[in-house]
Amino acid sequence: MDSFQHQDHLSHNETNFPSTVCNYCNKMFSSSKKLQEHTKMRCKVKPLVDSGLLSFQGGSIPGKIRFSETEKDNIICKLLYDVALLKMELYKVNSNMNTIKRKQTLQIVKGLNNNPDFKPKYTIQKWLQMIPVSLSHVSHVFQKNMNEAIKQVLLDGLNMAENSNIKPPIMGFHEKPNKLYVYYQDIDSNNNHHNSDNNKGSTKNTEQNNSKWVSCDYGMMRKWCSTLVTRFIQIFIDNEDYFLEPNLEDETKQEQKITNFNSIMSNSYKQGDFMENLTEQLYNRIKQKSPFDESRDVNDEN
Ligand SMILES: [Zn+2]
Repeated sequence: MDSFQHQDHLSHNETNFPSTVCNYCNKMFSSSKKLQEHTKMRCKVKPLVDSGLLSFQGGSIPGKIRFSETEKDNIICKLLYDVALLKMELYKVNSNMNTIKRKQTLQIVKGLNNNPDFKPKYTIQKWLQMIPVSLSHVSHVFQKNMNEAIKQVLLDGLNMAENSNIKPPIMGFHEKPNKLYVYYQDIDSNNNHHNSDNNKGSTKNTEQNNSKWVSCDYGMMRKWCSTLVTRFIQIFIDNEDYFLEPNLEDETKQEQKITNFNSIMSNSYKQGDFMENLTEQLYNRIKQKSPFDESRDVNDEN
């Protein structure tokens, strides 16, 4: 406090800086919390001081330090060692993070499958065969593009499910950003006869047994899109003239038919980052708070 009365003193006596000034680089911060964050992670001078390359309060300038060859060798060895240690630490942190993420996904899938309240009426495959695809959805393909048309059908399907109070076979949770879970019938295990006890009885029974919530990947998403595209093509073939502008001359008509045909056969949805975009859009449309008490579930696991 003394120094505030003696202005000339202030610039020499750094110990009197207010507590929101970084002791290493003299930058000022609006709160001590911000200062703390700065000194822990962002201050560019602190590591120089810590490593002994610079004395506290900038007493020497790194460019002017002269080391002997031996000192240089020692410093390089020490740095290489530190980097190696850090790499190992980072690897550990990353692998722990992945384990936690994987566990979280498993917990959600387990929670969904253990609680009959989450069981939707239809599997994702059936739902995709059922949600409405209208002529105007298909004209999206020609007016905009295939990707927009697919997205619109799915979003409209979700809206309809919500309005009619039928649980859609897709879920997403705040706790797992951009991750979708689908109620899925495992058709492969159905065909492979893995299970010899699996009697040849009613298909309905097998469908029930093989249907479960799973976490959805892009490969699955691509399959859904193909299902929808197949439906688009069917509608297009049945109503080819509907998608033409009225009163076209024969020649232009023929050209437009070809253009439309190329658009409807487009593979654009399999390219670029469309699966990522679609997942994100669907996720944002349906995300909800996870009903699972994760802390408790994690303890159960151990
Ligand atoms: Zn600083």
